[in-house]
Order: sequence, then structure tokens, then C-alpha cells
Amino acid sequence: MSAEIIDGRKVAELTRARVREDVQDWKAKGNRAPFLQVVLVGDDPASKVYIGAKTKACEDVGIETATEILQDTISAKELKSVIRGYNEDNSIDGILVQLPLPSHLSSHDVIETIDHRKDVDGFHPMNVGRLALCQPCFKSCTPAGVMELFKHYSIPVKSKHAVVIGASNIVGSPMSIMLSRENYTGKATTTICHKYTKDLTRHTINADILVVAAGQPHLIKAEMVKEGAVIIDVGINRVADETSEKGYKLVGDVDFGSVQKKASWITPVPGGVGPMTVAMLMKNTLLAAKKSIYPDS
Ligand code: NAD
Repeated sequence: MSAEIIDGRKVAELTRARVREDVQDWKAKGNRAPFLQVVLVGDDPASKVYIGAKTKACEDVGIETATEILQDTISAKELKSVIRGYNEDNSIDGILVQLPLPSHLSSHDVIETIDHRKDVDGFHPMNVGRLALCQPCFKSCTPAGVMELFKHYSIPVKSKHAVVIGASNIVGSPMSIMLSRENYTGKATTTICHKYTKDLTRHTINADILVVAAGQPHLIKAEMVKEGAVIIDVGINRVADETSEKGYKLVGDVDFGSVQKKASWITPVPGGVGPMTVAMLMKNTLLAAKKSIYPDS
């Protein structure tokens, strides 16, 4: 068996095309373009690359955006005051604080300062709580992008056994909620694994759907997966590569070469989940501008 490739670039482009059309309709009705305010604290090179991709996507779909770069010495009080300013600014629809933050700042504290109605990343406790309760909310972009991939390829999820590796607040945990809830499209029986899980293979080998978000290069090998499983590789890891100009290459958490031979569907890295994350951010920003999630705001 050789797995079908889940083409995240293609599905992301289709998602962005729909957002582009909706933005045009929205503006044709006399509304201003949606506006995404990005905040970067410090000058982490990887964060700059991610912000570059988000800015490009905004330009592509007709969303306006600005990035404010703040010194990495900024105090929590000062940063929160900047965010409160954005909360009150009616010309800003979505606010995104690029993570990770310097170690003296608490990301929980900073995210909680964002008005949840502008939290297009879906990280605010209000949105996470509403997600858990199956209420309208901004959904975390990466797991929402994975659900969109299932939908696009008509990959059945309902009643399957899904295993999620990784339990972070931004990927693994919301992914497990979206997969497991009876009231979402998920409806899967879901197991969550993390670094304290004993005998990972005992769980992965039984997965009809395996979502891996551990940040561990090539953690998942062919012998750990069930024949015909659907494999979603969220991991993005830099590993040294002398043949590349940059001196590194990006690999996922799955040993693609061997696992591809056993799976029915698989996402590549790069070109799988990554582009979907940015596309879902565009979708959330448009929803924020249209006040679709929180109409009374
Ligand atoms: P994180 O470090 O916050 O969380 C990692 C999780 O994996 C933790 O719950 C940890 O317990 C678990 N884990 C670590 N090693 C494990 C092991 N050996 N066995 C089982 N569980 C293990 O990371 P994160 O922010 O959730 O990101 C995970 C990966 O996904 C990273 O590679 C990150 O770069 C990538 N990522 C990709 C996208 C995208 O758009 N494709 C978005 C966000 C994160």
C-alpha cells in the first residue's frame, strides 16, 4: 500500500480563495477591509518567518494587517497596555500575539488580555472554554485546519478511533476536543498521549486516525501504525542538512518514507498542515470582522 497524499497547499489555497471572495463581497456591501493586528515581542527569526507568511496571506485575500515589533525587554504591564489599546480600537478586528514570548512574560496572562472577540488565534480561555462546550468560538487554527483537511478529502472521522500525540494548549488539546465531541464533526473515540504516556505504540497501533503534534523528529515509525491508518503530521522540526543551502531542512514527527507505505492517507511536511494553519487564521479574521461568532460585540 502507498498512502494518498493530503495536499495541504492545495486545500489552503481553496480555503483562501473562498475567504478572498467573501472579503470582496463584504467590501462590496460598503464595509471596510478586515484588519489583523500582529504583535511581535523581540526578534526571534522563526517568529519573523511565521509573521511573514501570515502577512503574505493577508495581502493575498484582501485583509489589511500591521505588525508592531516591541523590544524583548518590554514589561508585562506595558505589553498589556498596548493590547488593551488594540481591544478598544474599532478599526482592528483581529489581534495576534506571536508566540513564544520572552521568558519573563506569561503567555497565559498576555493572551487573557486580548478581547476574546478579537482572539483570532482561538487561544483565549473564553474561546477554549466555548470550544469544549461546543459553543460558537474562534477555533485554534492548526486543529481547525486538520478538521478542514478531513472534510475536503471526505475522510471519515465519526466513530473512528483517533489518537492524538501531544497535549499542548494550541494544538494537541484543542485537536482532541474537535475530534472527540459528539456535537462537532469529530464524533471519534479519542485517546490523548503525551510525554508521560507509557508504551506509545500500544496506543498508536490501534489508531484509525493518528494526529502527531509532539515536536519530535521522526517519532512515529512504520511499526507503530496500523495498516490503512490516516496519518496527520503536525510537527515542524529543523534538522541539520549539509546538502541544503540553509544548513537545515524541515521534517515532521512522522518517518514519512516508511509510514507512507502502510497508511491510507498522509500529510507531508512541509506542505501538509502548515499552510492550513495560516488559511484558517484568514478565515477567523474575516469572521471577526463580520462579527459572526460574537454578534453583540
Ligand atoms: P509543545 O512542545 O507545546 O507540546 C508538545 C506536546 O507533545 C506535549 O504535550 C508533550 O507532552 C508531547 N510530547 C513530546 N514528546 C513526546 C513523546 N516522545 N511522546 C509523546 N508525546 C510527546 O508543542 P506544540 O506547540 O504543540 O507543537 C508541536 C509540534 O507541532 C511542533 O513541532 C511545532 O513546531 C508544530 N506546530 C506546527 C504547526 C503547523 O501549523 N503545522 C502549528 C503549531 C505547532
